[in-house]
Amino acid sequence: MNMPVPIKEDMEQLAEDLFSRSIARVQEAARHARIDPETLLRMSAPRRTVEVSLPLRMDDGSLRMFRGYRVQYDDVRGPFKGGIRFHPQVDLAEVKSLALWMALKCAVVDIPFGGGKGGVEVDPHQLSLAETERLSRAYVRAIADVIGVDRDVPAPDVYTNARTMAWMADEYSSVVREHAPGVITGKPVGRGGSLGRDDATGRGGYYVLKEIEAQRTWKPGNVTVAIQGFGNAGQHIAKLLHKDGYKIVAVCDSRTGIHAKDGLDIPAVIEHKNETRRLPDVGDTIDGSSLLELDVDVLVPAALEDQITAENAANVKAEVLIELANGPTTGEADAILHERGALVVPDVLANAGGVTVSWFEWLQNRAGTYWELEEVHQRLRKTMQRQYRTLHARMTELDAPMRTAAYAVALERLDRAHSATGTATDYR
Ligand code: NAD
Repeated sequence: MNMPVPIKEDMEQLAEDLFSRSIARVQEAARHARIDPETLLRMSAPRRTVEVSLPLRMDDGSLRMFRGYRVQYDDVRGPFKGGIRFHPQVDLAEVKSLALWMALKCAVVDIPFGGGKGGVEVDPHQLSLAETERLSRAYVRAIADVIGVDRDVPAPDVYTNARTMAWMADEYSSVVREHAPGVITGKPVGRGGSLGRDDATGRGGYYVLKEIEAQRTWKPGNVTVAIQGFGNAGQHIAKLLHKDGYKIVAVCDSRTGIHAKDGLDIPAVIEHKNETRRLPDVGDTIDGSSLLELDVDVLVPAALEDQITAENAANVKAEVLIELANGPTTGEADAILHERGALVVPDVLANAGGVTVSWFEWLQNRAGTYWELEEVHQRLRKTMQRQYRTLHARMTELDAPMRTAAYAVALERLDRAHSATGTATDYR
C-alpha cells in the first residue's frame, strides 16, 4: 500500500528542537530511499518513553531527587538497544534523538537490534562513588519492568562505564531473581563482558579510517589528526592511530585542550589524563572550538552533539571527519562540508563499533561461551569494512553526504522488517 500519509501534521506536534531536526534529516534522506511512506510515519515517534523520578539518599544523609528517562524507539529488527548517559544536560528531546539514531545505527551495521536510549539528569562529578552506585541501581530498579534480555538492552554512554554497567546488571538480577547477564552490555570482563568492548567504539572508527587511508593511498606519517573529547571514544582512536604513525596534533576535553604541531605523545597523554583526570601541560593550550578549526587532515569529534554548526562549519578545514560522538554535526553544517568536498563519516557508522561489540557480548552471554580477542577484532573489522563500502557506494551514486546514504540504507532495512511484519498490530 503506497498511500501518502500525513507525516507533516504529526511532526508539527513535536516541538522539541533537536528531535525535530533529527526527524527532518531522516525525512530528507527518505527521499532517496526506496521505502513505503508508512515506514517513515512509524519512525516519526518513539514506541514508548519512560520518565522516572529517582530519590537518592546522599552521603551526608540528605535526600535529593533526580530525573531519569528510557526511550524505546523502534524494535522491529530486534530488542531495543542503547546506552545510558549521566549528564546535567540530559532531557527527553535529547534522549529521543539518541534513541532514533540508535535505531538507524543498528540498521546501518545490520545487527538484530532496535533503537533505545536512557539518561539521568545529573552531574556525576558532584557525586561520590557510593552515591553514583546508588543512583545507577535506583535507575535500573525504576526501569526494570521495561528492559530485559529480549526486550531492551542498555549499555554505557557519556559518563557511564563498565563499572556502572556491572552495578546495573547486578541490580537487575536482584530484581528479577535470576542471572541475566545479557540484559546489559559493556560490562567488565569477568562479569560477563566481552574482550574488546572497552575500545570498540574508537576501534570501529579506526577501521573506517583504515578504509579511507587505503582509498586515498595515505601515508599515516603525513596525516594530521585533531580529536575533540578525550574519554572512552576519543582516547582509543587516538591510541590506535598513534600506533600506526598518524600525527595526533591536538586533543581536548571539557576543561582544556593541548596542541603540538609535530604530534603529541599519545600514550603519555592518556596515562596523565587517567591518573589525574586532566590533560598534561604540554604544547600550546587550545580551546575546544579552535580545535575544530585547525588545519588538519582528519577531525574526530568525540564529545557531544551540535559542535559543528552553520556558524563554524565554513572554518572547519579537515578533509575527513569521523563522528565518534553522536550528532556532533548539524544538518546545515553537513551541507556546507559536503559542498566543499569534505567527507563526513556519520555517527551511525563511525561510532557503531561500540554497539557491534555489544551485540557480540550479548551473543556470548546467551551462548555462555566467550571469544578470543582476535575473533572480536576480526568480526568488528569485517562489519565496519563491509558497511563503509556499502555507504560509500551509495553516497557516490546519490552525490549526497554519507549521512544521507546511511539513513537511506538504514530506512530500507527498517522498511523490509516493517513491511514483512504486516499491519495486524494496528488493528488490535
Ligand atoms: P566519556 O564520558 O568517556 O568522554 C567524554 C569526553 O568528552 C570527556 O573527555 C569529556 O571531558 C569530553 N567533553 C565533554 N564535553 C566537552 C566539550 N564541550 N568539549 C570538549 N570535550 C568535552 O564518553 P564517551 O563514551 O567517550 O562518549 C563520547 C561520545 O561518543 C558521545 O557522543 C557518545 O554518545 C559517543 N559514543 C560513545 C560510545 C561508547 O561506547 N563509549 C559509543 C557510541 C557513541
